[in-house]
Amino acid sequence: MRKLFIAGNWKMNTNTDEAVSLLNELIPLVSDVQDMDIAVCPPFVYLHKAVYLTRNSNIRVGAQNCHFESKGAFTGEVAPEMLKDIGCTYVIIGHSERRHIFGETDDVIHSKVKKALDAELKVILCVGELLEEREAGKTEIVVETQLIGGLKDLSSEDLDRITIAYEPVWAIGTGKTASPDQAQEVHAFIRSWLKNQYNENVSGNCQIQYGGSVKPENARTLLEQPDIDGALVGGASLKAASFAAIVKAAR
Ligand code: PEP
Repeated sequence: MRKLFIAGNWKMNTNTDEAVSLLNELIPLVSDVQDMDIAVCPPFVYLHKAVYLTRNSNIRVGAQNCHFESKGAFTGEVAPEMLKDIGCTYVIIGHSERRHIFGETDDVIHSKVKKALDAELKVILCVGELLEEREAGKTEIVVETQLIGGLKDLSSEDLDRITIAYEPVWAIGTGKTASPDQAQEVHAFIRSWLKNQYNENVSGNCQIQYGGSVKPENARTLLEQPDIDGALVGGASLKAASFAAIVKAAR
């Protein structure tokens, strides 16, 4: 059975005091949750602190991005090995804001995925269509292209350390959530794609999160869908009570 996985993407939010308070509030709220994966992904500068504060808890820490080289003349970048070194477990790669604001291509995303796996991180690979792509009936082809691009040449064993986050771009930060049926349809498509490209085992074991305006009020109906194994939560992860309520809704 796949474990549910709820991850919070804090994006470029919080300062030191807010990050510390958020974690100190969250840790006891979810401490009784078992058999579920829980992660927070603060900005780079607060990762070290987050790893320290969560060290005795059931919350793991992830970064929101990484570079595709281990070291060198890449001013302003952070290597996956550095994330591993400070105790991160996960890294989000290919978030739609990286794709659409910073112009990351599937090739760049693929290099980052490979490098992050080499550094022994777990990867949350984000995929999802724009509103105009959905309206043009291109959701599956867009998602498939992103999966092919991001996962190129990866083995079945590599897939053990990949979570896929389906995040329709039109639902991110907009308050518009995909309906449970709309989300389930794409999740089922991703799972059957994994079965065709890899095998039943990979398809059955891969955690596929939904992301896009997940809140305590809509989490349960989304998470009840058979192919939705958790959520990547943006805005609602910035309040300990709402993130914890989403975690609890998943049980
Ligand atoms: C996200 O940033 O991945 C996200 C899903 O954001 P929100 O929950 O705010 O839509």
